[in-house]
Amino acid sequence: MTDYPTSPLMGQMMDQPLLISSIIEFAARHYGDSEIVSRRVEGDIHRYTYRECEQRSRKLAHALAGLGVKMGERVATLAWNGYRHMELYYGVSGSGAVLHTINPRLHPEQIAYIINHAEDQFLFFDLTFLPAIEAMARSCKTVKGYVAMCGREHMPAKTDIPMLLCYEELVEAAPGDYRWPQFDERSAAALCYTSGTTGNPKGALYSHRSTVLHAYASAMPNALNVSSADVVLPVVPMFHVNAWGLPYSVLLSGAKMVYPGAALDGKSLYELFEQEGVTFSAGVPTVWLGLINYVMQNDLRFSTFRRTVIGGSACPPAMMDTLIDRLRVQVIHAWGMTEMSPLGTACTLMGKHTRLPVEEQRAVLRKQGHAIYGVDMKIVDDDGTELPWDGVTYGHLLVKGPWVVSGYYRDEGGEVLQDGWFPTGDVATIDEDGYLAITDRSKDVIKSGGEWIGSIDLENVAMAHPAVLQAACIGVPHPKWSERPLLVVVRRPGMEVAREELLAFFDGKVAKWWIPDDVVFADSLPVGGTGKIQKNKLREAYGEYHLPTA
Ligand code: AMP
Repeated sequence: MTDYPTSPLMGQMMDQPLLISSIIEFAARHYGDSEIVSRRVEGDIHRYTYRECEQRSRKLAHALAGLGVKMGERVATLAWNGYRHMELYYGVSGSGAVLHTINPRLHPEQIAYIINHAEDQFLFFDLTFLPAIEAMARSCKTVKGYVAMCGREHMPAKTDIPMLLCYEELVEAAPGDYRWPQFDERSAAALCYTSGTTGNPKGALYSHRSTVLHAYASAMPNALNVSSADVVLPVVPMFHVNAWGLPYSVLLSGAKMVYPGAALDGKSLYELFEQEGVTFSAGVPTVWLGLINYVMQNDLRFSTFRRTVIGGSACPPAMMDTLIDRLRVQVIHAWGMTEMSPLGTACTLMGKHTRLPVEEQRAVLRKQGHAIYGVDMKIVDDDGTELPWDGVTYGHLLVKGPWVVSGYYRDEGGEVLQDGWFPTGDVATIDEDGYLAITDRSKDVIKSGGEWIGSIDLENVAMAHPAVLQAACIGVPHPKWSERPLLVVVRRPGMEVAREELLAFFDGKVAKWWIPDDVVFADSLPVGGTGKIQKNKLREAYGEYHLPTA
């Protein structure tokens, strides 16, 4: 913690800590009737208001105290997006304990590692994950009890999970007079482990202050622009960097919240969007693929859906064009990471851009966007020298700000900051107006003859071909150039495209020496726990690939 000097004349403003509980208190008092609608794992739709959510979150906090959970102790969740998960967001953090959201799509051994590393005291889970918990419970040494997020009528009849409790019984039995405690805003509030493609996952430990500031900033018009007139459906899971902060930013904005539960297929999502009048959503490109395909194949249109944020990996331009031009949905391309709570940049246009022709505006919108207040960024070369913001020069991206980690939980990985800046591991350009464009993860960059080739640009070109459903580009060894690009493609069902046609499609769209040396067709691409294509798996699979140019 840095000790800053104190001025002889201090401001005379109320010294109120920025606590997560203040968000739900405000929401319940000022937007008490706003709705939270959830598709439950049990199958039905549940509805209630902010007011009821706050009451139940307080009861939950009371129940946690009854279970002996103390300030700073970790309480884990293995759950989909839904109202009970939201009550845990507020009940756990609001009581001073730390909410640890676990990604259920990780390998069971990784989940057990994370639970033991975090020393979780209790684990709350949706019934979907009962078999996973049964398989894992014995290896989770610190967990004193497991709580099934359902009512008594849905409790498993027979299970050997030790100390199994029922969520609804816990909440119902707790008295309603709990008051949110006040404490230092820098106290830990929530813990998220990085998806970590190599080595063990590392924990980003958010504070109340960082979470509240991030929620404020991300709701602003230049970012996600959430208001009380919105109906928001976060497709991004609450176990992926806290659903990008939406459970906080939506509540402080007063919007109606819609949670999709476990039903994330195109049909279920579309029906919920229409039934509830969703105006705004958020998710990674792979989820939009399913929803867009469903809508286009069935010749449907959205009646209320007008805006979505897409991030987590690069939004392919072809996807952006379909959403904007055919489905009339504005796309906010955003960039961030677990270590940044997660939002760093969001792509919205400046006044001067509105006078540009549509195609030039689109070129801006394809970038990952402009820093939001609170985040500073710079690009540097291998020696750490800052590089110009000219939109062409690319370098290692570094960031800083009050919602960026200063290190990892339990100091895993040691000192991570470089002169006070966090190295993101991304390679990027920044243009004269401050718009960031991500070229690649530094470990995914293809190094051909000492020059870098950005795999994202190549994938974007391939994805614009009508027969291509998904594409990923990796570097494979080459005797002359050290590495050359190999394109791995999944074709749209029922559509054909030959290798030569696909390679010719790159002509004039990228520099000649960037064009991939070969194409392989695959049935699917490996996708990780947060919906991102796993390039490391592709490199394992094609590491020995013999290029025709080799
Ligand atoms: P995670 O912490 O799992 O959310 O991963 C963060 C990483 O995802 C970033 O460092 C980027 O490499 C990548 N990423 C996030 N958003 C984008 C985006 N809009 N375009 C390209 N890459 C992105």
